[in-house]
Amino acid sequence: MAGFASRPFLLRAGVEEKSRNRRASAPLSSVTTEKRDLHSGNPLWSTATADALPTQKLARDIDVDVLVVGGGFTGSIVAENLSRDFTVAVADRRKHGHGSTNASTALLLYEIDVPLIKLRAKIGSEPANRAWLRSSQAMRSLTQKFASLCIECDFRHRLGVYLPGNALNGEGLEIETAARAELELPSYLIDRAELRTRFGLANDAAIVSENTGEANPVKAAAGLYRAAISSGAHLYGDTDITAVEASASGIVAQTDAGFTIRARHLVFASGYEIPDYIEVQGHEVVSTWAYATTVQKKLWPERALIWEASDPYSYLRSTPDGRALLGGGDEDFDDEERRKRMTPEKLEEMRDKLAEFFPHLDTTPEFVWSGAFGVSDTGLPKIGALPGWPSCYAVFGFGGNGMTYAEIGGELLGRLIRGESDPDADIFAFPADADKG
Ligand SMILES: Cc1cc2nc3c(=O)[nH]c(=O)nc-3n(C[C@H](O)[C@H](O)[C@H](O)COP(=O)(O)OP(=O)(O)OC[C@H]3O[C@@H](n4cnc5c(N)ncnc54)[C@H](O)[C@@H]3O)c2cc1C
Repeated sequence: MAGFASRPFLLRAGVEEKSRNRRASAPLSSVTTEKRDLHSGNPLWSTATADALPTQKLARDIDVDVLVVGGGFTGSIVAENLSRDFTVAVADRRKHGHGSTNASTALLLYEIDVPLIKLRAKIGSEPANRAWLRSSQAMRSLTQKFASLCIECDFRHRLGVYLPGNALNGEGLEIETAARAELELPSYLIDRAELRTRFGLANDAAIVSENTGEANPVKAAAGLYRAAISSGAHLYGDTDITAVEASASGIVAQTDAGFTIRARHLVFASGYEIPDYIEVQGHEVVSTWAYATTVQKKLWPERALIWEASDPYSYLRSTPDGRALLGGGDEDFDDEERRKRMTPEKLEEMRDKLAEFFPHLDTTPEFVWSGAFGVSDTGLPKIGALPGWPSCYAVFGFGGNGMTYAEIGGELLGRLIRGESDPDADIFAFPADADKG
């Protein structure tokens, strides 16, 4: 699978030497992460808020409780949670917020890409139910967190409108609604007439969901980092973690500039740049596109978040300054040059799609971008301890609701690192054979 092939570990000479010396007495590991062109083109969000964070390149050896590798939205959630009780350092090889977070369209949904009825068929009813319920709970927690920490990220509650497509037709939506109702999830079915009157859309039916919203992903991450910093966390930008040795007593990480970070725990929040040795079946990195129009004279009713029960699907939201923001058209490859070459063609498709949703909108583009995008067969993320790599954990929020999954990751790892258990750890755990080291 693209992006998940095992590679030789990139060991710095000194680390390799130490590893050989200690291997007889202590379990040691060494690992680095892939490098990708995470996005290209002209993403909508300004990175100014994240750039104003107090970050510096690490220029000395440090000792902390937790090292978070990756300064995107996921890293910000993890850092905010753990910095309440631990000393935390967040290292990013780029600047914080400049990875996939900057490309995200930031529809905040509890709904998983794989419908509940399909997930039940894939992994069994009981875990599928728990995954959907946990996602819904995480969405509520995220909303409350933005409010309680006064995170200024243009968060707005919006209704979600899920239209029939090639994955679920009108009848499928009806069965899906009944399954969600069994779990008391906040969704209901509307018919063609109601869809037309309330939302101005011409499909046969739709599932309307509450507990959904939209935000500015870069501002959200920056706000959470500010909260973490006020609890004592430190951010290190332009700081590439090039090797890690792990043992039961903690980790020793090396940076590209030759400095050492010692920590009791390490969390990979490295987005779609996965540590080399992890090979998890059913996950791959694909290509995706998005664009934002010029400011519209008139948007659509309730500025609902619109998406389709299709694979791949298109989705639509509005921005605070009145643009339409549409994304989708995923392609099953991760070749960055090919992704860039396809952008003109994808833009035309997206403009057509927007006109199909709402013929009155002006489809003229002002921001167009593409990005790497991690997906999984189940639509679920991978979160948990890394088998065979003592003291190391990871959160990989694959799928269209990666930001909601970041919240699950923060909660779940927060518990594991505090020595507590999480009732849903089994659903998201890395399989024991993930260790290829
Ligand atoms: C076009 C697009 C649209 C999306 N739309 C949505 C949406 O509507 N809703 C939603 O919930 N999700 C969406 N997502 C997914 C969501 O954006 C991602 O889940 C989220 O941005 C990933 O955040 P992250 O922090 O995990 O990754 P990133 O933001 O990529 O952060 C990871 C960081 O790790 C750093 N890193 C990697 N390796 C190392 C290393 N060895 N040393 C130091 N630093 C390292 C990278 O530099 C990077 O900055 C979308 C994604 C894309 C691309």
